[in-house]
Amino acid sequence: MSKTSSSKTSSSSKTTSTSRRPFRIGRAKTGLGLFATKLIRKGSFIVRYIGRMLPNKIADELDTKYLFEVNARWTVDGSSRKNVARYVNHSCRPNAEADVKKRKILISAIKTIHPGDEITYNYGRDYFNAFIKDHGCRCAACHQKKLVMRSTRRRSRKRKSRKGRKR
Ligand SMILES: [Zn+2]
Repeated sequence: MSKTSSSKTSSSSKTTSTSRRPFRIGRAKTGLGLFATKLIRKGSFIVRYIGRMLPNKIADELDTKYLFEVNARWTVDGSSRKNVARYVNHSCRPNAEADVKKRKILISAIKTIHPGDEITYNYGRDYFNAFIKDHGCRCAACHQKKLVMRSTRRRSRKRKSRKGRKR
């Protein structure tokens, strides 16, 4: 038999994301998230945040978390499922960033992202204060911080009790 060409047998037709994308939607700590499937180099474009362009006044009335303010006048309503960028979760120590260029929201890597890594960007202070602050941030960086704090607290507690027993 001659070697089979690069054409893949359509085995996983269920997956909606096309293979040229360097990511997939997967389960994250806080629901769904976007995960790299290929190496994404620092500085390279990942995905565009798409949706209806609305005047800020109208967007302010909407009851959705998927709003991205582009400038003082316009907001993109990214709540459509077609907008895969809406699955990118917030992180306080992100590996990507969202940049606005001519009213287009482009998400690109600010670090080298390895296959399997969750892709994240910092949603900014306004979003953080409105939606994250109250129940606490669950991003990897904050989670790590919490673990460290908990273990140092435990350690100091142990030390105290040991001292008490000696006396
Ligand atoms: Zn955080």
